[in-house]
Amino acid sequence: MTQPPLTPPADTIELRWEVIRTCFWMRDQLGYFIGTWGSVSVRLEDGFLVTPSRMKFEEIKPEDLVVVDWEANVRRGHRPPTTDVELHRQVLLQRPDLGALIHSHSPWASVCACSHGSIPVLTDDMAAVIGGEVRATRYVPAGRDRELAEAAREAIGPDACAVLLANHGVVAGGRDLGEAVVAAQIVERGAMIFVQSEALGGATPISEQHWRGERIRYLESPPKLEPSPPPPARPSPVPQATQEPPT
Ligand SMILES: [Zn+2]
Repeated sequence: MTQPPLTPPADTIELRWEVIRTCFWMRDQLGYFIGTWGSVSVRLEDGFLVTPSRMKFEEIKPEDLVVVDWEANVRRGHRPPTTDVELHRQVLLQRPDLGALIHSHSPWASVCACSHGSIPVLTDDMAAVIGGEVRATRYVPAGRDRELAEAAREAIGPDACAVLLANHGVVAGGRDLGEAVVAAQIVERGAMIFVQSEALGGATPISEQHWRGERIRYLESPPKLEPSPPPPARPSPVPQATQEPPT
């Protein structure tokens, strides 16, 4: 089930720092971003805020983030947006209940993405935070950004807050950026549990009636989950890829 969208946040310096801190959190704490692979977006009133292209995370300042409108035009910013921009735009257009997205190549979700199958709802946290089985796109060769975005838009469906990109990675979202961070972790955990359960003889999903009930209970029960806030972004000596690949 989808839920009414939250009021989009204002495009503030603090929001932009939160996006940058999220990139560090994804790379340094969770290992979901590698080099410059990985991107984050947040829905605004007039489009969405998204990370820039071909920048090391250590070098990104709030003014380097880019605001893109729903027609794919850059509205504010002096940098080109991430090459994942069309992926973010189309998924945000498809799912107005999602206020923020994280695209990563997290390992277990990528394992499942290579099977082209769905991750079923196996745990209560996946029922609550993801809200449905996570489907996979068809395979889209690297570099076909628009085609990949269209495939993600078709595959995500009305329920799950995530979609697997075949032979590539995953997009996870939430009502706000904090919830998207949690969703990225729950999808990764769900993917690991699925693979391991299959290895033990077969995963047994929660029935649709029960996961839908848990999803409704979660959406109607404040407070929302809050991720552990990462510390302020500081340059770190982690080696970076020298070039951003085409997604
Ligand atoms: Zn990617």
